[in-house]
Amino acid sequence: MPQQRPRVIIVGAGFGGLEAAKALSRVAVDVIVVDRQNHHCFQPLLYQVATAALSPAEIAWPIRHMLRQQPNATVFMAEVRAVDLAAQFVETNAGPMSYDYLVIATGATHSYFGHDDWAEFAPGLKRIEDATRIRRSILLAFEQAELAGNDAERQRLLTFVIVGGGATGVEMAGAIAEIARQTLAKDFRRIDPRSARIILLEAGPRVLPTLPEDLSRYAERALTRMGVDVRTSTRVTSCDRRGVELDHGRIDAGAAIWAAGVVASPAASWLGAPHDRAGRVLVRPDLSVPDHPEVFVIGDAAAVQGEKGEPVPGVAPAAKQMGRYVGRLIAARVAGKSLPVFRYRNLGELATIGRRAAVVKFGRLRLKGFIGWLFWSLAHIYFLIGVKNRFIVAFTWLWDYVTFQRGARLITEVPPPGRG
Ligand SMILES: Cc1cc2nc3c(=O)[nH]c(=O)nc-3n(C[C@H](O)[C@H](O)[C@H](O)COP(=O)(O)OP(=O)(O)OC[C@H]3O[C@@H](n4cnc5c(N)ncnc54)[C@H](O)[C@@H]3O)c2cc1C
Repeated sequence: MPQQRPRVIIVGAGFGGLEAAKALSRVAVDVIVVDRQNHHCFQPLLYQVATAALSPAEIAWPIRHMLRQQPNATVFMAEVRAVDLAAQFVETNAGPMSYDYLVIATGATHSYFGHDDWAEFAPGLKRIEDATRIRRSILLAFEQAELAGNDAERQRLLTFVIVGGGATGVEMAGAIAEIARQTLAKDFRRIDPRSARIILLEAGPRVLPTLPEDLSRYAERALTRMGVDVRTSTRVTSCDRRGVELDHGRIDAGAAIWAAGVVASPAASWLGAPHDRAGRVLVRPDLSVPDHPEVFVIGDAAAVQGEKGEPVPGVAPAAKQMGRYVGRLIAARVAGKSLPVFRYRNLGELATIGRRAAVVKFGRLRLKGFIGWLFWSLAHIYFLIGVKNRFIVAFTWLWDYVTFQRGARLITEVPPPGRG
C-alpha cells in the first residue's frame, strides 16, 4: 500500500498563506489551501479602489488560478470556524478537514476598540467589498450635495472625515483631496467639489507614527498643501449616521472612513493559545504554537519579535517572510531535518500622499516628494501579480497622472435611502 503523504492545511491565502503554499511546491506533501474568499487581494492598493483610481479586478486574483501550476496544492473556498488540536482537524462550514501540519494565516481586520456599531457609519478598508462600499459613499456624497436643498446640508455632505493617521489614512486623505480638487472639479453645476473639506483625525501627536519624525512632518505639510485639514492629538469618541463626535466637539460629515485600529483574526481563540492585546497569537521563535510543533501562525495573526525584541510589524513583506520560512521548516521536518529560528528582515516602509508625493524609508535611504512617489509606484507595480496587471496598473496611473482623471468612478449597488 502506498504511504500517505503528510497533509498540510493552510488557512488563508493572503500574503503569508500563499507564500507558504509556494514554498511547499516541490515537497512531497499534499497542500490544502482554505480561504473564505475565492481571491487573493493586494491590500496595499485597496485605497485606490476605494478612491476610484483602480478597478477591483486590477488588484485581486483568483487563488485557484494563482496555484494552478502547483500540482500538490488543492484550493477550497470555505470558512474555518474552529480547530481541534487533539484530533488534528479544522472545522469549516464545508465540514471537518484533517491535517498533519496546520498553518494559520488568517490576517487581521479593523478594530473599533469595542464599538463595532461604528462600522456601519465609518467603514474600514480590508476587503474588496469594503473598498467598493467606501467608493460608493464618497461618490454618493458628491451626488447628494448637488441635490441638497440648503447650504448647511451641502456643506455636511462635502465634508469627509478619515479616522487614523497611519499609512492608509494618509493615503485615503490625499486621494480624496485629489478627487475633490482635480478629478471632479468641473463635473458638477450646483456645487464646487473643490470646496470639499477633507479632515484627517489622528489621536497621537503625529501622522505616520512608525516613520521617522522628519518624514511624518513632511507628510503632514504635503497633505496640508493639498487642502487636507490634519488634526493630530484628536480622538473620536463616537460615530453616527451624520458624522463623528470628538473629545472636543463634533464634525458633521457626508462620509467617514475608519483607518484607526487593527485586531487579529480569532485564531487565538480557535487554538486556546496565548495572545497579545490585539489578539495576535504569541508564537514560539519558529512560529509554532506553544506545545504544538505541528501548528503555525503567521502574518498579521501572529505576534512575533524581531532580533532586538522589537515587534515585527503587520506588513506584507513580514507575512511573506513568515510564510516562506514555515514552508521551508515543514519541508525540512518532512525530510527529518531542522531549521534555525525565524529571522525578520526589515525592508523598510513607504506611504504615498498623492500625485508626486510619497515618503520612503528603505534601510538608511530616506526619500520624499516626487522621487519617493516614483519609488513607491515602481515598488507596487513590481509586487503586483501578473504581467498584464502590471501593464494595466502602470498605464492607468500614467493616464490618471497626465489627465487628472480617475476611471473607476462607478456607483454600484446603491442602498435604499437612509442606509450607507
Ligand atoms: C488598507 C490596507 C493597506 C495596507 N497597505 C500596506 C502597504 O502599503 N504595505 C505593506 O507592506 N502592508 C500593507 N498592509 C498590510 C498587509 O496587507 C498585511 O500585513 C498582510 O496582508 C498580512 O498578510 P496575511 O497573510 O497575514 O493576511 P491577509 O493578507 O489579510 O490574508 C488573510 C486571508 O485569510 C482569509 N481568512 C480570514 N479568516 C478566514 C477564515 N476564518 N477562514 C478562511 N479564510 C480566512 C482571508 O480571506 C484572507 O484571504 C495594508 C493593509 C490594509 C488593510
